[in-house]
Amino acid sequence: MKLVTFTRNGIDEVGVKTDGGLVPLSELASDLPKDMIALISEGEELKNRIDVLLTAYAGQPLNDEGLELRAPIPTPARNIFCVGKNYHDHAEEFEKSGFDSSSSGQAVPSVPIIFTKAPSSVIAHGESVDSSLDPSGTLDYEGELAVVIGKGGRGITKDAAMAHVYGYTIINDVTARETQNKHKQWFLGKSADTFCPMGPAIVTADEIGDVRELRLTTKVNGELRQNAVVSDLIFDIPTIIETISSSITLQPGDLIATGTPVGVAIGFNPPKYLQPGDEVEVEITKVGSLRNRIS
Ligand code: MG
Repeated sequence: MKLVTFTRNGIDEVGVKTDGGLVPLSELASDLPKDMIALISEGEELKNRIDVLLTAYAGQPLNDEGLELRAPIPTPARNIFCVGKNYHDHAEEFEKSGFDSSSSGQAVPSVPIIFTKAPSSVIAHGESVDSSLDPSGTLDYEGELAVVIGKGGRGITKDAAMAHVYGYTIINDVTARETQNKHKQWFLGKSADTFCPMGPAIVTADEIGDVRELRLTTKVNGELRQNAVVSDLIFDIPTIIETISSSITLQPGDLIATGTPVGVAIGFNPPKYLQPGDEVEVEITKVGSLRNRIS
């Protein structure tokens, strides 16, 4: 199931993207949740009920071209968890770039590097990233697969981890490199308003099959910059969930951006920083395509 949040008459609603268009949950039944986190919290049981309601739906789906999409979770309940340096070739390019204030002289980390992005950085597919919030002019893109947590918990083991995954979406972990480096901590450089494009949809885990087979590509103005498969992750999704949940209780609707592969702007010589007018497209097989312009 492909779930989206959209705005109609100034009010956010959740809908299901079908082949025929978008079906608002409000048209399936009046008692269904009005927002994505509430829907996710109800888990598998509600998803199955929506499936049954969809099969019986005789209405006219909305043409999603004219709809204003929001990020699938427009306001996450708390920070977005992120993993740094989680693909081998990217860990090397970041180490070599001179921008890695976390560097300990070894490119590939021995344990996952976890940081977060502020919820206020989230924008939707189609919205613009505000480059004026990086006065240093070192704006970079990071195409990433994001895990959406379904059932929460603490002390989730690797073996149990995938049962806690509700679905997947796409995140562009936009970064002001100079700020990331200067402050010796990644939060400021990655949390500016508009620096977390997300979406367009959450695709539930049952539609994905083996997540390790998904391919991620990032294009800037149509030029291919990143191209990797999820199986290249240094720390896989079960390891990431086990690591974070060892001391933090994960909650339904939590988001974990799993890291970016080689090919970011600072990996090039000279760096190919983003400029106003550029369009970044992050595409992941079965999950969708997230496009945002730089303003
Ligand atoms: Mg990243």
